[in-house]
Amino acid sequence: MRIIHVYPADDVNGEGLRVVAFFAGCKWNCPGCFNPQTHSFDAGEPFTEEKENELFDMVDHPYIDGITFTGGDPLFGGEEFLGILRRFRERFGQTKTIWVYTGFETQAIIDDSTLSEVFKLADVLCTGKFIKSRTSPKKKWVGSNNQEVIHTKDYDIHRDS
Ligand code: SF4
Repeated sequence: MRIIHVYPADDVNGEGLRVVAFFAGCKWNCPGCFNPQTHSFDAGEPFTEEKENELFDMVDHPYIDGITFTGGDPLFGGEEFLGILRRFRERFGQTKTIWVYTGFETQAIIDDSTLSEVFKLADVLCTGKFIKSRTSPKKKWVGSNNQEVIHTKDYDIHRDS
């Protein structure tokens, strides 16, 4: 995967104060997308082990509540992306929260034998494509009212506990 940029402390992409990582690549082409520069899978720079350690170190402060993965659409990273989430959990356990923004619909993630693991690894998923005609400033955390804010603990999918 490739990473485009990182916000070290942000409070509009999930609850609390969060590190926000923008990964390259999205195939959904939602009209009115606010981040078209992130659509190319060649944008940004390779997300190396060194970059990952730097990113995780940014989270490792008491004033940071967790990390938000967005883009682009990080779920296009598939198994590689899930590996990042697993290593994040290995380092932080449940002391930091994980939010993931994706254009995949909730049911499509549930039905995918690989991607569904994100329900075990992440705390919150903001799912679905942005639809400009359904823009809803009142719906918190997402841009249009078709999109869902999923708290994974409410779903019994791949959860061990
Ligand atoms: S899923 Fe997100 S990044 Fe991708 S085109 Fe839609 S709004 Fe843009």
